[in-house]
Amino acid sequence: MKVVLQNITKIFPSRNKKVKDEVVAVNDFNLEIPDGKLVCLLGPSGCGKSTTLYMISGLQEPSSGKIFFGEDDVTKLSPENRGIGLVFQNYALYPHMTVQQNILFPLQNLKGENRLSKEEMLNRTTEAAKLVQIDEYLNRKPSELSGGQQQRVAIARALVKMPRVLLLDEPLSNLDARLRLQTREEIRRIQRSTKITTIFVTHDQEEAMSISDYIVIMKLGVIMQTGKPQWVYDDPANLFVAKFLGAPPINLFSGRVEKGKLYIGEEKVLDVKGVEDQEVYVGIRPEGFILDKKGKLTCTVSGIDVMGRDISIVSTSENSLNPVVRSIISADEMGNISGDVVKFNLKEHKVFIFNKETEQRVYFGAQLASHEEMIAQMEAEGQVYVTREGPLPREADDKVKENVIPEPPKNVFVRAFNGVKNLCTKLFKKKDGENTEVATEIAEENLESEKIEIVEESPIATEAAPVEFVAPVASETAPVEEEAAPETTEAKPPKKTKRTTKVKE
Ligand code: ADP
Ligand code: MG
Repeated sequence: MKVVLQNITKIFPSRNKKVKDEVVAVNDFNLEIPDGKLVCLLGPSGCGKSTTLYMISGLQEPSSGKIFFGEDDVTKLSPENRGIGLVFQNYALYPHMTVQQNILFPLQNLKGENRLSKEEMLNRTTEAAKLVQIDEYLNRKPSELSGGQQQRVAIARALVKMPRVLLLDEPLSNLDARLRLQTREEIRRIQRSTKITTIFVTHDQEEAMSISDYIVIMKLGVIMQTGKPQWVYDDPANLFVAKFLGAPPINLFSGRVEKGKLYIGEEKVLDVKGVEDQEVYVGIRPEGFILDKKGKLTCTVSGIDVMGRDISIVSTSENSLNPVVRSIISADEMGNISGDVVKFNLKEHKVFIFNKETEQRVYFGAQLASHEEMIAQMEAEGQVYVTREGPLPREADDKVKENVIPEPPKNVFVRAFNGVKNLCTKLFKKKDGENTEVATEIAEENLESEKIEIVEESPIATEAAPVEFVAPVASETAPVEEEAAPETTEAKPPKKTKRTTKVKE
C-alpha cells in the first residue's frame, strides 16, 4: 500500500492566548512512501517524527493537507478504519493477559462482516506469533518475558489484523544494545516476508541506515532529504544531513573557494574549477583521507586508535570546527606516520562543500553528474527525491561554532563508596592559583578500589576566594554540599583521598 502525504502541516496551538508559542510540528510535508518498502523517519528529538506517524495512523488530524493510502483519501478516516498496525516505544501490553490473549485482542474487537470465527482468530494469532518467533511463549504473561520478547508480542499484535500499513514509533529504544540489534534484524525480516509498507521512526542514524529501504531525514518539521541510506550518506544535500549521518561523524573545516581552488586555511586542498568564490564549510568523511608525505592538508597528530584492520588517526587542525579530526586509514599504513605532523590528500568524492550562509551543498567536479544520476535512478524506482530548496530551518543554537571556547575547568566533587565502578574522569584542584588536573592520578590510585563516583560538577568559582579540592566523602549517605565553602568543607589533601577510597584497609 503506497502512502502519500500531500502538503501536510501540523500546528499545535498555544495553550495560553497571551503567549504566542504555537508549535509547527510538521511543516508542509510532501512525501510518497512506496508500496512494500520500509521507510525510516529519522531526525533529532522534537523534529516531528511521531506527529507525522500519528497523522498517518489517524490518531492526530493534520492542520492542513491530505493523506492517501493508495488512491484512497484517508485524511478524515478514524484509526480503526485505516487498516494500520501501530507499535510504540513502550510495548504497552496488557499485563493481566497472556501473550496469546494480547495478540488475540485486536481480532476480538472486529465488528460486523470483519468478525472472524473463534478458530480463525486462534489460527491468525498463532501465525502472527510464529512470524515474530514468540509462539513458544503463548501462555506466558508479559512480565515473564524479556524486553525484546515483549516488543515482539507488540509487533505480533500489530500484525495480526494484517494491516495495510505498519507504523513503528521508536520500537527499539527500550531494549539493550544486543537486543536492539537482534530485534531490528527481526523487524527487517518480518517486513521483507510480509511486504507490508512499514514506517519506522527513529532518532538513531545507525539504526535507520541499517534497516531502511529509504530514509527521510527531518529537522524542525521539515524534510531535509530523502533517499536510499547509502545515497544520503554519499550525497548529502545540506550541512545538516552531512552532520547527522555517519559514525564517526564527518570532519568539518572552515574554508573558502577562491579562483577555482578550495582552501582550508592557507592550504589549497582541492581543485574545484567552475565553483564561484565563496566562504564554505568543508566536510570530509573519516574515510576520505589519504596519507601522503606531500599531502595538501596538514594536521597535528594527537593519537592513534587501533581498530584492527583500520586505524583512526586523531589529529587537530586550527581550521577544524570539531575538537579533533578523525581519519580512518588502513592499518598497513601505520608505518608511514612519523612525528607530530601528518599530511593528507583528499578523496574528492568524500569531500562535501557547503555555502556558509545557506548551508546548502555546493557540487564540484564529478559530483554534480553523480548527483543527477542518483536522482534519475531514484525516479526510475518510483521514489521522489525531496530536499529542502529554500532557507533551511535553524535553531538558535544551531550555528556551527567557529570559535570553540574551551570548557572552563571544573571542580569535581567526588564521593567514595563500596562496589561502584570507578567513574572518575575529570578532577581538578587549585594549586598555586592554577587549576591542575588530578583526574588521572586519582583514577589510577583508585583503580583497584573501584569506589569513586563523581557526584557533582560545578564550575571553578571566579571569586578571589581560592577553591579547594573537595575530598571524597567516605560515607555513602553523607550529603555533598553543592556550594561547599572552603572553610566549612572538610578539605583534605589528595593523599588522604587515597586512603579514604581504598576498599580493603
Ligand atoms: P519527535 O517524535 O520527532 O521527537 P514530536 O512529533 O513528538 O517529535 O514533536 C514535534 C514537536 O511538536 C515538538 O516540538 C513537540 O514539543 C511538539 N508537540 C508534540 N505533541 C504536541 C502536543 N500534543 N501539543 C503541543 N505540542 C506538541
Ligand atoms: Mg517521538
